Amino acid sequence: MTVDSIQNGIVIDHIAAGAGMKLYELLGLAGAEAPVAIMMNVTSRKLGRKDIIKIDGDIPVSFDVIGYVDPGATVNVIRDGRLAEKKQMGLPGRLVNVLRCKNPRCISSCEQELDQVFALTDAAKREYRCVYCETKAAVL
Ligand SMILES: [Zn+2]
Repeated sequence: MTVDSIQNGIVIDHIAAGAGMKLYELLGLAGAEAPVAIMMNVTSRKLGRKDIIKIDGDIPVSFDVIGYVDPGATVNVIRDGRLAEKKQMGLPGRLVNVLRCKNPRCISSCEQELDQVFALTDAAKREYRCVYCETKAAVL
């Protein structure tokens, strides 16, 4: 599968080498209803080595999750075999239902219907905290 062969889909490029699998897991791509390819340790002029994920199909992916795992990643949206959009990710300000709060007394742990919401509290450290109880999320 090459980019050229994708008619409608997404190519996540410039993922830091080693982060591709983590991103694959967090995006839930194992259960995706589309062919997904991960390429690891691809030679990159910019990064030395990088990972790439190609999704051959028009399925929803969370840009917040991609930005969280690797803010330096680039997302290429392919439509009708052409590059329709190129997005630079960056760190998302909020993460909704991506991480679970590990504080057992947190209201989000007790109330199942509540969204799990984390806010970026320190961009330099890539630190996120639960908006309900301020428990820190584990750093990737
Ligand atoms: Zn919490």
